[in-house]
Amino acid sequence: MVTKLGEFDVIARYFRRPARRALLGVGDDCALLGPEAGQQWAVCTDMLVEGRHFLAGTDPRHLGHKALAVNLSDLAAMGARPHSFLLALALAQPDPAWLEAFSGGLFALADEHDIELVGGDTTRGPLNLCVTAVGLVPEGLALRRDAARAGDELWVSGTPGQARLALGHLLDEWQLPQPLLRQVLPRLEQPQPRVTLGLALRGIAHAAIDISDGLLGDLRHVLDASAVGAVVDVDALPACEALSRQPTQRRRACQLAGGDDYELLFTAAPARREQVLRAGEQAGVALTRIGSIEAEPGLRLRDGAGRSMPADYPSFDHFLQP
Ligand code: ADP
Ligand code: MG
Repeated sequence: MVTKLGEFDVIARYFRRPARRALLGVGDDCALLGPEAGQQWAVCTDMLVEGRHFLAGTDPRHLGHKALAVNLSDLAAMGARPHSFLLALALAQPDPAWLEAFSGGLFALADEHDIELVGGDTTRGPLNLCVTAVGLVPEGLALRRDAARAGDELWVSGTPGQARLALGHLLDEWQLPQPLLRQVLPRLEQPQPRVTLGLALRGIAHAAIDISDGLLGDLRHVLDASAVGAVVDVDALPACEALSRQPTQRRRACQLAGGDDYELLFTAAPARREQVLRAGEQAGVALTRIGSIEAEPGLRLRDGAGRSMPADYPSFDHFLQP
């Protein structure tokens, strides 16, 4: 006999776990969290909508991972330590296999970061996954977008562009050979938020942002918030094997404008270079210097030979060209 799952069965069976650090977790009208002396709450929310942020039929385990990962990436970009999270979920129907896999992916990443689900909301509707994450950062140490200073060096973690390269393959914009696809697909489906790096950069970096919307677009947010400009050496951008095998224009488009990279872009004084590199080692991620912050507003792109390139290059539409 098939028993139908109700809203409260879904919550109890797939999302309710005993509270640990929360004073009160799932089950009441609100969760209760205990503030810690000298710390500030960092709070963010990010929604994943089917058809907009992911393709229909995406592995639910990956969706569970990613719904939380994109939020932990925002905490990482502030230098905040993840504390707990909430989940607002709209589902067309409560499919046990889907829920099992989704909650499995979600809690696997939560356990990796030792954080707990403290509440949420569950409703029928088009598939929509919204996580709200809560983190802690010591007073005054948050890595804010408005803190870049002229003279800072500009750094990026990892190899941006991989997620966009994988997406292009899924959308039939180009074809990647299987071995290369296997290298980049996990960056799209199961991004690893740079939480350890964000923590290691406290007190060292000035401004930071995660480049979920593409490197140049997100850099512009930092420049605007900080009222400064930047010069970026496009040929200094790190490339993995799959990216380095692409035609130059496609590679640069992925690196500079590809979304869904959950790497950190940050600025730090040149005198901090050694400490920055040590933070990267602690976090187990390569860090690359890709430019510098200047007092003159605006974004200036140069190639390796020092020639200036159009600063609007490449826009998202360029992905449609070979
Ligand atoms: P309310 O009616 O007060 O909004 P609900 O009936 O929506 O509460 O939810 C009951 C409890 O279950 C609440 O504590 C809520 O935070 C929690 N909850 C609901 N949906 C989820 C979910 N998807 N994940 C975790 N907790 C949830
Ligand atoms: Mg409710």
